[in-house]
Amino acid sequence: MELTVLGSGTSVPHPERSSSGYWLDTSAGTILLDCSASSIHRMAQERLDWPNLDAIWISHFHLDHVGGLPPFLFGTKHAPVTQSRTKALRIFGAAGLRKLIETFSDANNYELLEQPFPVEVVEIEALEKFEILPGVEAVAFSTPHTDDSHAIHLRDNETTLVYTADTGPTDALAALARHVDLLLMECSFVRNKPVAKHLELVEAIHLIRKAEPRRAVLTHLYPEWDEVDFDEEVRNLRPRTEIIKAFDGQRITIPNKLKTEN
Ligand SMILES: [Zn+2]
Ligand SMILES: [Zn+2]
Repeated sequence: MELTVLGSGTSVPHPERSSSGYWLDTSAGTILLDCSASSIHRMAQERLDWPNLDAIWISHFHLDHVGGLPPFLFGTKHAPVTQSRTKALRIFGAAGLRKLIETFSDANNYELLEQPFPVEVVEIEALEKFEILPGVEAVAFSTPHTDDSHAIHLRDNETTLVYTADTGPTDALAALARHVDLLLMECSFVRNKPVAKHLELVEAIHLIRKAEPRRAVLTHLYPEWDEVDFDEEVRNLRPRTEIIKAFDGQRITIPNKLKTEN
């Protein structure tokens, strides 16, 4: 798999960090993990093949994760490049996803689910295994953030990834992310976080220690991260795993375990 970070920031406007969106190339096609308003233009900026995107995962209904979905569907409905598309676009998320799209759609008779190509909206249950793409297995996991927020575990052949999306601390996440090849985890705050439903660095490192992923990428960074030396803050907590700070435009190849052992 290869991950492209579209937006490593939050809902706070920032000159370098746009809102949540992560493009994932897999052996079976492409997945957009969360779709903020900025993500849809960031895909084009990164020269990614958005007209042929195969699947979208919506972690929860906060606008910095879903606010680009209705505009994206408005774009694919009318853009010349998507008029000849025939393959389906599948959109996955919690119960309520279809209603959210329909509500935006009804705001102006957009008919966003009537596209030149088939669109399937799939509402998933936590812990129910599903195929996000043919052969790419997914499991969603409830997180302490909103009533319907989910982390997701993906398996593409032997390669595994967990994307926590927004979450408060819970050791159960470490179990979900145990020994994954890449743990893409929110770390909203440095310390003294103002809200319980996000992570600060010491909590993120605690989860990484327990999960022991091959690599971890910290993202969903509030602007207060601009004020600190990320590497030094991380080093002070002595993690045993390689921990990377996300940035917009970052590309990470996620190794197959068998390949790296050779
Ligand atoms: Zn959120
Ligand atoms: Zn968020």
